[in-house]
Amino acid sequence: MELKTYVCPNCGANTTNAQNCEYCGSLLVRFVEKGIDVKSISYLNSNDWVFPGLIENLQKNLQLQADNPEGTDVRTDICGGEVYISVFSPAGKLWTWDDGTVIDFTSTNRGLLIILTFYDVVYQENKGFRTSQMQRPSKYMSKLLRQDSYKRNFKDLEMYPIFMSREYAEDFEFSNGYETHKESFIKTSISYAIDFGQDAEGAARLISRILLKVYGVSRQNNGIRITTNAGALDIEKAAKENNSIYTGIDKDFDSEMNKKSNEAFIYNIIGIIVVIFSVIVSFVGC
Ligand SMILES: [Zn+2]
Repeated sequence: MELKTYVCPNCGANTTNAQNCEYCGSLLVRFVEKGIDVKSISYLNSNDWVFPGLIENLQKNLQLQADNPEGTDVRTDICGGEVYISVFSPAGKLWTWDDGTVIDFTSTNRGLLIILTFYDVVYQENKGFRTSQMQRPSKYMSKLLRQDSYKRNFKDLEMYPIFMSREYAEDFEFSNGYETHKESFIKTSISYAIDFGQDAEGAARLISRILLKVYGVSRQNNGIRITTNAGALDIEKAAKENNSIYTGIDKDFDSEMNKKSNEAFIYNIIGIIVVIFSVIVSFVGC
């Protein structure tokens, strides 16, 4: 069988790999394979503005992959507020979908695997039961539901059709341990992943586009932090230090729920005082 060849729009080489150019690793050949003229994809313009430090971090990511033993995890985190984008090394083990299955990337050695996830948390009206008035998940819910708009923005991107995606849903319950408060939620996530090969500049342009168009981050906003680390321990440490979406959501969730638990606690105390008071009254009544 004769192999089809494509001219790589990034380096100009003839490549038979329609996923990532076998010479420069660029994924632009995917557009060629689909018959899309890359000149029509505006963000691919090499003059496109990129967030400061992004190209350097992605180059550092590739360099760390080369410098470290095979199998070492390398990750670049781009986060701040509700933004959480990760760029993984293909040799590492950290890249899985939310359901725990390994993402089927095509890279065999070095590369930039970009992954981002949007969450929705929905209160299960029928399943959850509430026994007092103070259990409306309003503030928490309205914050989380905002990721729905990010999802819509993402689908408007020119790049959207060549991302892999996976949806995941899980139930979770919250109880304050007093049986006065129990709620049921369903958390759904949709993750998007792409193997960007070794094209650090192209990946930086794509990520900048996502920050601007999907998350609405302004060019002046330096609330976005970019860190690149190698080795599971350093990566974990950096993730904790970063204001990631995970810790951000958990923090809000915890503080909201603690507030509710405190309210529940106060109501319980009031209840106990009322009981003691009525016992005293009944004794006095004798
Ligand atoms: Zn190429």
